[in-house]
Amino acid sequence: MTERPPDSNRPPKQLEAPVARVSLPRPVLQSFHYRIPPDLAAAAVPGVRVVVPFGRRRETGILEALVEPPNAGRTRLKDLHAVLDVRPVLSPDLLRLCRWVADYYVAPAGLVYRAALPPGLIGGAARSHGELRRQVIRIVAELPTLTERERVFGRARRQREAYETLESMGGQAEVAHMERQLGFSRSVLTGLVQRELAEITSEAIERDPFAGLQTGPPQPELNPAQVRVLEQLVRQATEPDPGVAVLRGVTGSGKTVVYLRLMRTVLDRGRSAILLVPEIALTPQTVERVRSEFGDDVAVLHSGLSDGERRDAWAALRDGRKRVAVGTRSAVFAPVPDLGVIVVDEEHDGSYKQGETPRYHARSVAVVRARMAGALCVLGSATPSLESWQLGRRGKWTSLVLPDRATPHPLPEVEVVDLREEQSPPPRILSDRLKSALADRLVKGEQSILLLNRRGHSTWVSCDECGWVAACESCNVSLTWHRRRGRLVCHHCHYEQPSRETCPECGGATLVFTGVGTEQVERHLGEEFPEARIARMDVDTTGEKWSHRDILESVRRREVDILLGTQMISKGLDLPGVTLVGVIDADVGLNLPDFRASERTFQLLAQVAGRAGRGSLPGKVYVQTTRPAHFAIQTALRHDFESFATRELDDRAGPGYPPHVRLANLLITGPHETAVADAAEALRAWLESLLERKGNTSILLLGPAPCPIDRLRGRWRWHLLLKSDDAAILGSVLRHTAGSAPIPSGLRLEIDRDPESLL
Ligand code: ADP
Ligand code: ZN
Ligand code: ZN
Repeated sequence: MTERPPDSNRPPKQLEAPVARVSLPRPVLQSFHYRIPPDLAAAAVPGVRVVVPFGRRRETGILEALVEPPNAGRTRLKDLHAVLDVRPVLSPDLLRLCRWVADYYVAPAGLVYRAALPPGLIGGAARSHGELRRQVIRIVAELPTLTERERVFGRARRQREAYETLESMGGQAEVAHMERQLGFSRSVLTGLVQRELAEITSEAIERDPFAGLQTGPPQPELNPAQVRVLEQLVRQATEPDPGVAVLRGVTGSGKTVVYLRLMRTVLDRGRSAILLVPEIALTPQTVERVRSEFGDDVAVLHSGLSDGERRDAWAALRDGRKRVAVGTRSAVFAPVPDLGVIVVDEEHDGSYKQGETPRYHARSVAVVRARMAGALCVLGSATPSLESWQLGRRGKWTSLVLPDRATPHPLPEVEVVDLREEQSPPPRILSDRLKSALADRLVKGEQSILLLNRRGHSTWVSCDECGWVAACESCNVSLTWHRRRGRLVCHHCHYEQPSRETCPECGGATLVFTGVGTEQVERHLGEEFPEARIARMDVDTTGEKWSHRDILESVRRREVDILLGTQMISKGLDLPGVTLVGVIDADVGLNLPDFRASERTFQLLAQVAGRAGRGSLPGKVYVQTTRPAHFAIQTALRHDFESFATRELDDRAGPGYPPHVRLANLLITGPHETAVADAAEALRAWLESLLERKGNTSILLLGPAPCPIDRLRGRWRWHLLLKSDDAAILGSVLRHTAGSAPIPSGLRLEIDRDPESLL
């Protein structure tokens, strides 16, 4: 064969310079293309933040990729305006992970990038931080007398306010804080600088809010069961494709001890580790233990930190100055290089699912990130999600068990109290048995925990004469009476109004208050046990950043006899003085119209029962319910996860709920009920014809129907459910729907893939 000469007659194909594909943090699925001016060509690499013209404004987004010009260069592209970073804020690995999240959850990539980065880096408030330094404004000249102030500021009232605000904050503050949270304009601040009263400097302050925390005791020697589990995990972590391990260990079996050892071996090999926890504020003990094991190698990431604190922690991880990230949901995007292991603690916890766009599940993202990085993913829980448990049982994931508590104390005995048999008149807050058990612990100086997953005083206020119910103006839910504050409050949108003594409809004076909440239990306890020291822990008592920790510390110091709270007291606490746990009303979660109601109830009971008897004295648990025969309660009494899971899996097979099928919830919302209902019907018809055209038989369409809470924050809500065995087909249908389904203006379509709840 002779070689053909190169086709030298045709002009050489014009090699066009690549353009920048940019995603913006806006609720649109597509990305946008920009020409790269020559002076930015060197800096414009994938993963940097860029400023681009968008309409008549400028916006900050992420440069995702350098690509061929779209439409063979026929459209005229606008120019990139600026590149904000010297080094990419998103590594190629994280760009890829975010892209997966955007595709799988049908979310705008720009919103995924924003969720993956510390706050303030992209989005409306972003500005050039160069290498992520912060500007700090600091007073440099004092004005001790009032007359001096009058003289200096004259009529510059805002400057004086800014100056005095700075004084009140100890003389300095972050410029961004002054501008965004306190509303001082840049010109007011620079005015202070021009008067030589203050200076603005750019600095990188290392903050470590956990630095003051006491560190825990040294880690114990492993017992034989723990050794076996650890060896298996270490072996698996060194395989080329380590996959996922599901670790089921009863509360107190030493899962955390095993995580820490595993992370240590990963670090010793020079790689990094991420530990995800459901709620940092609720798990100070876990954080302490991680810190005492890894010291300054740990960065803690969670929503309670200020923006600056989060950026510090993030930068320390990205630069490899710290190699262990501990954090909540979004820490799954921690920028650690060379990831070796991700541990998801309490992997069943619903807080791993984000409730707004991007509606990602951190557990699923962790599994995918680990796979992309060749790292091991460990999912640990006393009560694994059915999704994880089933994959473990089928052998797709490794399944490991720690069956016993590590300390010599057995799991506590659980006794059910049938509230229907109680003789006392409602409200039945404490049954006779629970009351005398509490009295007994008080006499002995032992501590008790009481759980009620409902806050406020009364959750239902109605008129006995005309039937009026105090309801939210913009949600179809009843208002909860908060007695101490004297307010009726909506727990969904925070709308509130003053308490009332008479009915607004008929003027009747016989208002009825039902539905017991934690505030009422607290009052009741005070009356029953005037000598007891009672602490309440729920959203209403824990507004301050560290108040969880403070409450728990006082419990640990034995300054509290009875700790009362919502599910926030059920998680991860190791309080050795607690010998009694009482569940005031186990029916609260059981009666929710949701496919996870039984699962959530079992988890809650198992977790809170696990708080009892962790010290040297045995524990006892009372569960009050009107449904004592329910299998979620019966199996929780026996600490019998396997029976619960087997039965629950069975129950979900018939109606077809996860993990038997993949689920997507399509929500249509809008201000007018009929328009929402019509749009939901129209969407169904559109989907039906789409599926028919594609000859699709693998997707089942249910609904539309009003959501269980059919109005929220002034918007009516209808939904459609899509079920499928085939995740890929479901994904492509969802993406097509998001891009093409006709949604009337004023209405919104929200897609919730793998929903945690259908409320
Ligand atoms: P889990 O994370 O499964 O709830 P932890 O790791 O918190 O369990 O352990 C529960 C308690 O038991 C902790 O106080 C821990 O220090 C202790 N513990 C764990 N393993 C051992 C062991 N092998 N020997 C003695 N104590 C242990
Ligand atoms: Zn009335
Ligand atoms: Zn409301």
